[in-house]
Formats: sequence, structure tokens, C-alpha cells
Amino acid sequence: MTATKKNYGFATKSVHAGEEPDFRDGATGDVVVPIHLATTFARKKVNEPTAGYEYTRSLNPTRKALETKLAALENAAYGLAFSSGLAAETTLLLSLLKSGDHIIAFDDLYGGTKRLFNHIFNEYDIAASFVDLTDAALLNDAIQPNTKLVWLESPSNPLLKVSDIQAIAAIAHAHNLLLVVDNTFLSPYFQQPLTLGADIVVHSSTKYIGGHSDVLGGSVLLNDETLYNRIQYRQNAVGAVLSPFDSYLTLRGIKTLALRMERHQENALKIAHFLQQHPKVKRVLYPGLPTHPQYDLARKQTSGSGGVLSFEIHGSINDAEQFLERLELFALAESLGGVESLIELPAAMTHASVAKEVREQIGITDTLIRISVGVEDTDDLIADLQQALA
Ligand SMILES: *Cc1c(COP(=O)(O)O)cnc(C)c1O
Repeated sequence: MTATKKNYGFATKSVHAGEEPDFRDGATGDVVVPIHLATTFARKKVNEPTAGYEYTRSLNPTRKALETKLAALENAAYGLAFSSGLAAETTLLLSLLKSGDHIIAFDDLYGGTKRLFNHIFNEYDIAASFVDLTDAALLNDAIQPNTKLVWLESPSNPLLKVSDIQAIAAIAHAHNLLLVVDNTFLSPYFQQPLTLGADIVVHSSTKYIGGHSDVLGGSVLLNDETLYNRIQYRQNAVGAVLSPFDSYLTLRGIKTLALRMERHQENALKIAHFLQQHPKVKRVLYPGLPTHPQYDLARKQTSGSGGVLSFEIHGSINDAEQFLERLELFALAESLGGVESLIELPAAMTHASVAKEVREQIGITDTLIRISVGVEDTDDLIADLQQALA
């Protein structure tokens, strides 16, 4: 009961919210919410209601515990858990938009979200414009009579651009638009967009929230009850819900979120400093570096810079490939947010589907490399980068 309601700190909520021991008659007092595998729940009599659960697609006790915990961490009234980040986004878009509507999205967006806008919702006559929202004023120019939604990631992927969530929320609300923030990169530990004025937060919990590269998931967090009911109706009607086992794994991951985020950040900052002074490195992009163009804004709206950084090396795409293949500790892989360090070449991997001109125009050059810094010993990570750069 209590951990969810009381104004406890983040780490306390991570451990306790949604998982208070159950002492009702016959209950066991588990300190960990059980994995409720049942797909259906019985009632005693035809005309008597069930104990609250009927069918797992509609509501499941393990998933509900996770939804409660996620809402507590984002300081949201409501949370919903889906089978992936993109399932969460799809269900959300189906809840907010209809044919003829228009979305304004940040130009440096997760590739899968861009694909969803440009190749799926586009077919239902929902158009998206992509704007560099690091200049909040550009939002004004992009608003059309049919615009309904602004979609933001901050910091962005892979360029780590930071946008002013408060300023963008103010412009959006002046035009009756909803602001959605994808908070995957920082997790609620470092940034809470709802408290900055965003209307809805989405997450790929596959990343930091799950934290161990072993469970796919997505979530939607918000305060508006009417909207919540609309989304929940579609969560059940569309059916892309998180399974009980995956809900359990995510609950388990969240318990160390605060510890992990601190270590991710500590390692990322040390690596950023190391790379910055290396002669083969052209530039380092990390919001925790005073050289980052939005360093002050990042300090104002976040409590930390997370574990993802990008950097550009001198040379050609072949040099970048050679460097990546020489690394021993960093796995050459897409995704981010797990305890293990991952490295990738956006031009050839996560952003290969983006046309080269478009890529270069927004700054994703052939030698731009993205790291998701894990929680290993920093010295080992730096030694590995050092030998591969040499
Ligand atoms: C991975 C990711 C998604 C998509 O989530 P999935 O769980 O892979 O479906 C959305 N947004 C961001 C920022 C991501 O990194």
C-alpha cells in the first residue's frame, strides 16, 4: 500500500512500489510479486464479480505490479506495460490520432519510431513532419491546423541532442497539442518529463529499465484519467500486452535501476574524457561534457547524463569498422541500456536505412560511433578502447 503512495525516494520506490507484501486472508506475504501465469481467473457464481481479474490480456496481477512501479518512478498517476517499446508507441498512437491528423516529431528520432510514422501510420493518412526541436521556436513554424501531437526524444539517438522539454510543452499546450516524450535514454532516474510539462511518457523498457538485455518491453505513463482509460481500452482491444514472465523480469531489473544508472553515468563520463583527449578522436557527444552545446539545459532539466555517448573518429568508414572489430570487451551490437557495454556504427547499423544525404545533413557521418556504456570496471573499458584505437 504505502511505498507507492508515500513520497519516498527513487531507489526506495524502485524496490517497493507495486510489490508490497500481501497480508490478506490466506495470502502468503511474498516480498516479491509472484509470476501469475494464469490466462483466466475464476468467479464463484455466474452473477458475482471476480476478485478483479478476468482474463490476462485485460489485466494480470504481475503486469499490474509493474505498471504500478513504473508509474511511481515517473511520478505518473497511471502506467501501462506493453510487449515492446514499439507496441507501446503503436497503441498510444491508435489512442490519440485518427486519419487526417498530423504529428510533429524530433528529427533525430529512434529509427523504429520514424519507420512507424513514415511507413505504417502514413498509410492511414497520418502524416509526420520532422523538425530540429533543439530550437523550440521551430515548433511554431511546423504547426498545421491538423497537428495533434508533438513527439520528442531528449537526449536523442545517436547525436545526444538535448531539447527544452518545458519550452516545447508550453508551445504545444498553447496550441492544444499533446507532448509525448520518449524517455528511454535517461530512464526516470535522470529525467522525469511529466514534471517538466510533458503529457505522456513512453519507454522502451527493453533498455535501461529492464537493464539486462534479456527482456523486451514498453510502457506508457501519464496523469490524465480520460486518456488513460482510452489507452487501456486499446491495450486490451489491440492486445500487445507484456507477458507475466516478462513483467517479472522487468520488475526484477528495476530494483537496481538507481544503482545501475549511477554506474553507467560514472563510466560514460570517464570514457568521454578519455576519448576527448585522444588524437584519433574528432569529437565526443555526451550531455555530461561542458563542451556539449546544450550542457546548461541538460543540467537544468535532468539530474544526470546517462550511459550513451557518441564520438567521431578521424578517417574513413573502413577505419571505423577496423576499430570496432578490434575491440574485445565491447560487443558489436545494436540496442543499449544493458549492464554490458555495446558499441555500434549508426551509418552501417541502426541508421543504415536512413539515406546517406539525410544522415550527413543531421550529423550522422560514416565515422560516428555510438557506445552504450555498461557497468563493467572503467579501467578495463578504457584499456580496450585504447588498444583498438592504437
Ligand atoms: C529501442 C527503442 C525503442 C523501441 O523499443 P523496442 O522495445 O525495441 O520496441 C523506442 N525508442 C527508443 C529511444 C529506443 O531506444
